[in-house]
Amino acid sequence: MKQGIHPNYEIVKVHCACGNTFDAGSTKEELKVEICSECHPFFTGKSKAVEKGGRVERFKKKFNMD
Ligand SMILES: [Zn+2]
Repeated sequence: MKQGIHPNYEIVKVHCACGNTFDAGSTKEELKVEICSECHPFFTGKSKAVEKGGRVERFKKKFNMD
């Protein structure tokens, strides 16, 4: 950790794996993330519902097969 140096905190472009870009505060010139507020299930709720459905399907299949 650097001491006595105030980080150069600037607004930079963040590139997400989903193709979305947005501004965020960072000490880096450029940021790359794998998930953002546009594609994260917590924010969209879409993927979460799909995942939930998938789990139910798997659950049913598992118990119907036996
Ligand atoms: Zn994203």
